Amino acid sequence: MSNIKNETEFIMKKYNIKANKSLGQNFLINDRVVEEIIENSEITKNDLIIEIGPGLGTLTKDLLEQAGKVVCIELDKRMINILEDRFSLYNNFELINQDVLKVNLHQLIKKEKETGNITHAKIVANLPYYITTPIIMKLLEDELDLESITVMIQKEVAERLIAIPGEKDTGAITYSVFYYSEASKIMEVSNNSFIPEPNVTSEVIKLNIRKNKIIEVVDKEMMFKIIKSAFMQRRKTLLNALVNTKVFSNKEEGTNILNDLGLDINIRAEKLNLNNFADITNEIYKLKNN
Ligand code: SAM
Repeated sequence: MSNIKNETEFIMKKYNIKANKSLGQNFLINDRVVEEIIENSEITKNDLIIEIGPGLGTLTKDLLEQAGKVVCIELDKRMINILEDRFSLYNNFELINQDVLKVNLHQLIKKEKETGNITHAKIVANLPYYITTPIIMKLLEDELDLESITVMIQKEVAERLIAIPGEKDTGAITYSVFYYSEASKIMEVSNNSFIPEPNVTSEVIKLNIRKNKIIEVVDKEMMFKIIKSAFMQRRKTLLNALVNTKVFSNKEEGTNILNDLGLDINIRAEKLNLNNFADITNEIYKLKNN
């Protein structure tokens, strides 16, 4: 019989907690999944762990045992009482009752690195699925001083995040994740590993943040705008999608650029790798700045 399942049911009963679906509350009750998340996070006493959405504290306990410092960010006030009751005796525990999207993570990491003996910051979370993408994008695009991000998310989203750009199952977000990190799948997690059971299968993934840039591009923001434009109309050819969204001034300009880069003018966005988008960006940049 699972220990965490018993513990979760006990805590929910004690505090009279019903999961709030609109906050994406699916509490993890599978011991093996907890072990895998903790193990793959590769935590040391010099680590700051930021846990997003600790909920009842299922992952928090192990994080506190292994990390130098754990900062939990939880939106639901009801969880705050529970977490304080459970963990206030740990002197490496801090709790922020906020929407994670509103927290200044730059400042938080900087402060922790300046004080104590923290050398690395890592994210560990069983994320609320209704805001998975905004959270991951914030963590990556803000270029936080992070080592890794280990998260449980919806399987369908996970597959898109860890796909290789230019291969299958990609979306605009695949390129961002690839640009900022090396992504890998840790494990698939079935619905019955949670109370209540979500409607979807889950997956734990790990993003190791890249230390060095993998491509040369004159304007990174411009490149990601172009990628988003290309995928907004992904059923069209890349040429048409980029003409329609005014990335290319007209078809002739677009055709010339694709020809110059040796790309088929009938190619679709999902066939391009990150380098291809960097090349297109560099060409457009040259045209605009000449
Ligand atoms: N970590 C717990 C576990 O594994 O059982 C709970 C995970 S549950 C999938 C997601 C948690 O994120 C919930 O506790 C929920 O209240 C919290 N949450 C939802 N939206 C949030 C937000 N915007 N900022 C911070 N936490 C949020």
